[in-house]
Amino acid sequence: MENIFKKIEGMRDYILDLQRNMTRIPAISPDSGGKGEYQKAKYLEAELKKLKFDEIARIDAPDPRAENGVRPNLIAKYYGQDKNKTLWLLAHMDVVPEGDLSLWKTNPFELALDKDGDTMYGRGVEDNQQAIIAALLAARAFMELGQRPPVSLGIMLLADEETGNHYGIDYLVKNNSALFGKDDAFIVQDSGDSEGKTIEIAEKSVWWVKFTVNGGQAHGSRPSDGNNAFLAASKLALALHAGLYAKFDKIDNLFDPSISTFEPTKKEANVPNVNTIPGKDIFYMDCRILPCYDLKDVEAEITRIVKNIEAETKTDIKFETEHKLSSKPTAEDAPLVKRYAEAVEKINGVKPQIIGIGGGTFAAPVRNMGLAAVVGSRIYENPHTPNEKASIKFTISDAKVIAYILASLK
Ligand SMILES: [Zn+2]
Repeated sequence: MENIFKKIEGMRDYILDLQRNMTRIPAISPDSGGKGEYQKAKYLEAELKKLKFDEIARIDAPDPRAENGVRPNLIAKYYGQDKNKTLWLLAHMDVVPEGDLSLWKTNPFELALDKDGDTMYGRGVEDNQQAIIAALLAARAFMELGQRPPVSLGIMLLADEETGNHYGIDYLVKNNSALFGKDDAFIVQDSGDSEGKTIEIAEKSVWWVKFTVNGGQAHGSRPSDGNNAFLAASKLALALHAGLYAKFDKIDNLFDPSISTFEPTKKEANVPNVNTIPGKDIFYMDCRILPCYDLKDVEAEITRIVKNIEAETKTDIKFETEHKLSSKPTAEDAPLVKRYAEAVEKINGVKPQIIGIGGGTFAAPVRNMGLAAVVGSRIYENPHTPNEKASIKFTISDAKVIAYILASLK
């Protein structure tokens, strides 16, 4: 282990080189006005080929909007002594746009190294290039020492995490399910904290619901000629907020907040002028539901509340799903979680903290196949911000955590 750690510590220039080259290739999704991951994948494929992987494959998801019509996913494998089990490292190649350029102190697509010699600035350096690099560091250390880990090491460099996973992990789960062995374990270094102590093993179900309330439009001076849809929507929002919190009120201290949450959020514009009673009103709720609940029961309760408000306000109300994702938690006593906790204690020198989160990582589709997945990393937690930064030290810590787990997983 010590030899492997020393190897990783000696790869500072390799980290900078990879960060510099990746930051120059903005892999922005066509959904956000970019060309996709093609060029970044080509660069990374060439980098993977420089190392001693036993298998390298590119799996392209078709997307006519993207450069060359594809959203590429890279798969690399370094065989272990037991080839029937693989520890997979999942990272995504896509980045979000730079946002307001005036808020950046440096060019977002040109790596800048701070005078402290450790902090690197640029779009994507943390989210998720640090994870791509940590994976390559761990692999390279084993390869250069000529060591075969007990189980195989697999790396998936994925497309499309920032805009829905459709062409990334979801595509592979659907079309290349043979990649996922029944005993495989997964590490996702795409969320974490600056001490590297949190180990995320569970996510709340995410359900975004759109409500459309139809009443009747009328002149603002004659409300009884119509039926105020905004007023009915307001009653509905209050009734849902009170009713759902009251019914689904279990507490799970793995999560922070420890309860399910049901919040009205987005509101669409109704009438453009003040003196019209709106005949139609649309709003949305963001629900984050503890995994102990079945979403069907939540749906039944929403239906009941909607019917009540329809009767009370004499409106017609429809609700539909904007986005829904639930995942099975990974067991707290899974070997992967135990090894991860040991690694965090040994390498980051902190007491590990096992947590659940509000949902939405790309560990969910993997967990839904019944496979163990943990999400964690040592990061500044500044994804998507201007002046996004990452640390060379943290990258080395994350690579060591991977190496420790790889060497100790059976
Ligand atoms: Zn990310």
